[in-house]
Amino acid sequence: MSDPHASRLDRARAALRDRGDRALVLAPGPNARYLTGLTAEQSERRFLVVVPRDDDPAALAPALAAPDARDAPGLADDRVRTWRDDDGPHPALAAFAAAHLADGPGRLLVDDRLWASHLLALRDAVDAPLGLASEVCGPLRVRKDEAERDALRRAASVADGVVGQLRDRGADVVGTTERDLARTVERLLDGAGGEGLPFDPVVAAGPNGARPHHTPTDRRIEAGDPVVLDFGTRVDGYPSDQTRTLVFGDEPSDRVRAVHDAVWEAQRAGVAAVEPGARAGDVDAAARTVIEDAGYGDAFVHRTGHGVGLEVHEEPYVASGSGRRLEPGMVFSVEPGVYLDGAFGVRIEDLVLVTDDGCERLNRTPRGPETGD
Ligand code: ZN
Ligand code: ZN
Repeated sequence: MSDPHASRLDRARAALRDRGDRALVLAPGPNARYLTGLTAEQSERRFLVVVPRDDDPAALAPALAAPDARDAPGLADDRVRTWRDDDGPHPALAAFAAAHLADGPGRLLVDDRLWASHLLALRDAVDAPLGLASEVCGPLRVRKDEAERDALRRAASVADGVVGQLRDRGADVVGTTERDLARTVERLLDGAGGEGLPFDPVVAAGPNGARPHHTPTDRRIEAGDPVVLDFGTRVDGYPSDQTRTLVFGDEPSDRVRAVHDAVWEAQRAGVAAVEPGARAGDVDAAARTVIEDAGYGDAFVHRTGHGVGLEVHEEPYVASGSGRRLEPGMVFSVEPGVYLDGAFGVRIEDLVLVTDDGCERLNRTPRGPETGD
């Protein structure tokens, strides 16, 4: 696959020209990674990536991060200016701003996640109206290109494989603590080719399942407990995010089965509503109606889904009433859940990719609660 950054940069610069804006001013993070491949993290040391509308990207980097900047496929070596701790960032920022930001009309679109300390220094160094980089980067990042789809598919398949391994353990899981099972999940993801956790795994057994983002505890998993297992991994920087609710060591009770059936049906209905041109709110309504009809509407306490890309939660949000139109290339979760205080919770989550005529599920592992042989 050819390097995708050149075409992303072209589209970003075209958007800047169309809008009459001067440049993007990015922090190390998802926008800079998307456009240049830079994988560094933002810190207290001043580090900016600039995408001017009529020129190649340039970076101001602390000396110790210079190798990261030079490794980025979208940043040429001679476009990286560095500063050392003993000189401080101010002289370098003044020179960098004069070279890359001072000229031209229009706004500087600053990274939505640029720390305020860096933003104030930038404002002192260059006199220009400001806007948000998401105005240009958001519409680009929301439609995933081939390289992104490939990474998202591979990440989903790693997580799916680990769900299969957990299912195979069956009754052996009974007696394990939530915390131990979370560590096991982490190890299995690593062993299956995952490249780190995008978020801490949720392992929520029995009554703990009624908290959607429960942090694993020392509670031991009992036979027949529904266990909400929500976890993901990263591949090439892109996360997976899926949830299954499994029952180990016994048959699910009738009540658990009834709730699980409702959530499963809601998840099917949500996925079935995904197609280009549909509204995000339509997907939410399709899933929510099933749960309401089953009598659990008050127990479905969150939106139906969220976009996934370089960030685990990003546009588009699949929320009640959202008029956002779905477009081919969008990737988001469909994850209805029912949370019954003091009893248990059930959530089923898959990622879907909007295609030209419907959607592709990125998670394919079975959705039922059964485990073991
Ligand atoms: Zn999740
Ligand atoms: Zn999710």
